[in-house]
Amino acid sequence: MLDDSLARKAQKHLYKAAREVKFDKDILKILEKPMRILEVSIPIKMDSGKIKVFKGFRCQYNDAKGPTKGGVRYHPNVSEDEVVALAAWMSWKCALLDLPYGGAKGGIICDPTKLSQSELERLTRRYTTEIMPILGPHIDIPAPDVYTTSKTMAWIMDTFSMFKGYTEPSIVTGKPEILGGSKGRKEATGRGIAIITREYFKARKKSLKGAKIAVQGFGNVGGHAALFLSQLGAKIVAASDASGCLVNPDGLDIPGLLDCVEKHACVVKYPGKQIEGKELLYQDVDVLIPAALEDQVHQKNAGDIKAKLVVEGANGPVTPEGDEILEKKGITVIPDILANAGGVVVSHLEWVQAISGLYWEEDQVNAELERKMVKAFKHVWENAQQRKVSLRCSAYVVAIERIAEVYKYRGIFP
Ligand code: NAD
Repeated sequence: MLDDSLARKAQKHLYKAAREVKFDKDILKILEKPMRILEVSIPIKMDSGKIKVFKGFRCQYNDAKGPTKGGVRYHPNVSEDEVVALAAWMSWKCALLDLPYGGAKGGIICDPTKLSQSELERLTRRYTTEIMPILGPHIDIPAPDVYTTSKTMAWIMDTFSMFKGYTEPSIVTGKPEILGGSKGRKEATGRGIAIITREYFKARKKSLKGAKIAVQGFGNVGGHAALFLSQLGAKIVAASDASGCLVNPDGLDIPGLLDCVEKHACVVKYPGKQIEGKELLYQDVDVLIPAALEDQVHQKNAGDIKAKLVVEGANGPVTPEGDEILEKKGITVIPDILANAGGVVVSHLEWVQAISGLYWEEDQVNAELERKMVKAFKHVWENAQQRKVSLRCSAYVVAIERIAEVYKYRGIFP
């Protein structure tokens, strides 16, 4: 593993938490390695009639607490290293939220913007077929991630069902509602970020009303987080995506911007003042929400961050070196495994609904999401106060102690 690899960075947080609680060294030996990695070759016929072979992965990091759960990413930067790091984070996230899941992640190295819908469908169906030996509603359950959608999940579900000979809605989450997708799933990660930010302000006895927020990555996660936070009275003063960055010191019109992104797939088509995309990170705001990709706040730029609070909407947007600099500057970071856990909480509810065949109303889903997120925040907050550690270290401690307890009862086979 390379020193600057994402998996290595993911491990650094684990080791820090393990040192804090003098964690059982034998259990640490298990947690520092992925349980299973599958690399697959995916040949598909392109629209031109030519064959192209793509590379894909599925990593199941740890399944001590239950079947593994995690998204599938289509992106040119997908690698074994990235998939392993993301699968590790999913393991800690599921344990922190006390879900009966382990963590997984998958991906295909491709540029989905250059593929037609029919090529994407063939790619998804062949990828599903290749990873089929390690898939199952009680083995490993995929979900959407960057550049995969509910439509992708429908193709995975259909391919799996065709091989089994019966319809199996519990094989994926994040699917369309008509196929058994949960109400509230699409908004869940953003809603969870708003809940956690609200709880943090409450714990600090501060008001969110008028708080200035910058959101990097106005996609599913960032867009919904902005919407729910603006409904709580916060002012979203900057929002960026791959196309650029929009700013308004009086607060952007978030419903209007969401409509614009829905129509044009970019924020810069919305009228208003624009700045360079990368400038978003350095805005003088109360809260910065990096909700695009990993490694955005690092050794070289963490010193320039002016926000008082960073809420990790994406997975791994702050590197361990960036984290240390922010901590020294007195900037609090709410870690990804807590902040963006709303998606997997509602994915779990979707899985429960599909298995039971009984579907919930949206207010029931949202109430359960609220309950789980508030409980996890309280646990992490109180543990951090008690141990005098960062919220990230506290969250990791809660998660890995829970997994260690599972091993205490299950033992190591054989
Ligand atoms: P998405 O594809 O809907 O949105 C990503 C957004 O980031 C897009 O608007 C894109 O234009 C923007 N972006 C890309 N590069 C950028 C850059 N350099 N600067 C600014 N913006 C940039 O994806 P998403 O589902 O919103 O996921 C975003 C992140 O959140 C990922 O790290 C994902 O792993 C993580 N996450 C997603 C969920 C979920 O439920 N979707 C759950 C937990 C974590």
